[in-house]
Amino acid sequence: MHWADVVANEVAGTCEKPLIATGISPTGIIHVGSLREAITGESVRSAVEGKGKDVRLIYLIDSFDPLRKRYDFLPKEYEDHVGMPISKIPCPCGRHDNYAHHFVQPFLDAVDSLEVNCEIIWTHELYEKGAFAEAIDMCFKKRKEIIRILHEVSGKEAREDYAPYNPLCEKCGRFTVPVFESYSFPSVEYRCTCGHTGVADVRKGDGKLTWRLEWPAKWMIFGTSAEPFGKDHAAAGGSYDTGKRIAEEIYGCKAPYPIPYEFVQLKGVGQMHKSLGCSVTGLDAIKMTPSEVLNYLFLRLNPGRVIDYDSGMGVLDIADEYDRMERQFFSGEYTDAEENSVRAYEIAQHNHAPKELPLQIPYRHLVNVAQMADTFEGVLEILSRTVDISSAAAGDIERIRKRIECVRYWLNGFAPDQVKFSVYPTIPAGIELTMNDKAFFLELVNRMNDANWDAETISQIISDVGKESPIGMKAGFKAIYQVLTGKTAGPRLGPFLASMDRQFVINRFVQASKHGL
Ligand SMILES: [Zn+2]
Ligand SMILES: [Zn+2]
Repeated sequence: MHWADVVANEVAGTCEKPLIATGISPTGIIHVGSLREAITGESVRSAVEGKGKDVRLIYLIDSFDPLRKRYDFLPKEYEDHVGMPISKIPCPCGRHDNYAHHFVQPFLDAVDSLEVNCEIIWTHELYEKGAFAEAIDMCFKKRKEIIRILHEVSGKEAREDYAPYNPLCEKCGRFTVPVFESYSFPSVEYRCTCGHTGVADVRKGDGKLTWRLEWPAKWMIFGTSAEPFGKDHAAAGGSYDTGKRIAEEIYGCKAPYPIPYEFVQLKGVGQMHKSLGCSVTGLDAIKMTPSEVLNYLFLRLNPGRVIDYDSGMGVLDIADEYDRMERQFFSGEYTDAEENSVRAYEIAQHNHAPKELPLQIPYRHLVNVAQMADTFEGVLEILSRTVDISSAAAGDIERIRKRIECVRYWLNGFAPDQVKFSVYPTIPAGIELTMNDKAFFLELVNRMNDANWDAETISQIISDVGKESPIGMKAGFKAIYQVLTGKTAGPRLGPFLASMDRQFVINRFVQASKHGL
């Protein structure tokens, strides 16, 4: 059984209206791993929905977390904002409400394009609405028990001055510590290191629970049934373990079904984002991988397995695998070993697979075509030489459009040089051809003039002529790439030439047969 179905069975049995929670801490750049979390949450939601349950997925943004340090990509003046909640720090570009919005908005747009069906919830708004007031009150009243539980579970020293709640200093805007004895719902006094003393109201956005208490408080507020989270939180004595005890013994609620997931490892060449200090961000992954393929990539492996995100040739391999699983889903013919991947394909459609097999154009072919036409109209024209796209459904054309956009993004920043080429308008300068090369081209022209213009016929002609010619097949291939692209290798010649205009190719070979004369 696919892992999302296993989780769905667990969750669907526990209550009438399950709630799946997932979230992000938008303090800096968005990692590819954050996509895994969103997609994992969505897959469980759709699998539970498939069981006829009224299920919700919420996406919690930790917008009230403090900025922990000035990251390298932030301007100098952000030094002054360290320690302040990111919902109260100005956005670096001036076009967003605040720092949290600035970093999370592009990601939310992306999550939208992945069709993750979630409700967005900003943590700073929950505090402002008083949603945490009850939990904060419990934490002040049971502070000693909390200290004991944290010590027992995490093994860390039990500190008498442990603060479950940090008031926000109204003068300097940073989180500080409360005066415990002064607490009387809903107020607590604080003395900030900046010298200011004040009073925080726990029903307002005047302060926040510490992380280990805030997480289970969210379980209580929303009645969370299941939640994916990074495996670092799942370590023994980690925040899930302490959260579970806090939920049961302090808040009197249950911990959600845990879905710890492994990290995503980045592979492939690709350019470095100098300012961001990483090679591929979550946004890059979304822009260079078709969303259905990205969903599939994260769903085909159990959350406990590390995923390699290969931004080089791996993008093409996973797209090919996706298309193959799509064909197998519709044909119903697959091995036991493939059953899990076929189900992953289905869940990647949010459990709503199309009625019939969509028009499939090999992804590698799209990579070639995208380099032969600047516009989408040009792409369709080239495709129409080898594929009947006149009868394609609107959805098929839309899928090609999105895939071409991904291919272009990939070609611009991440594709290895070996797949990049451009077809020159005339024979590139500096190409030298021998008499035998020229005879080879002349013979190609003779046979291509009356032949069918399809990939199979073309590659047959090339190999026949190559074998008969003194230059041989290998040098023949090389000469063809040279007169078209100036390179010595390139895409498979049959489909490559078939996707070009026949007369264009023949004219080029005629030109080659007379080259230098
Ligand atoms: Zn901004
Ligand atoms: Zn202060």
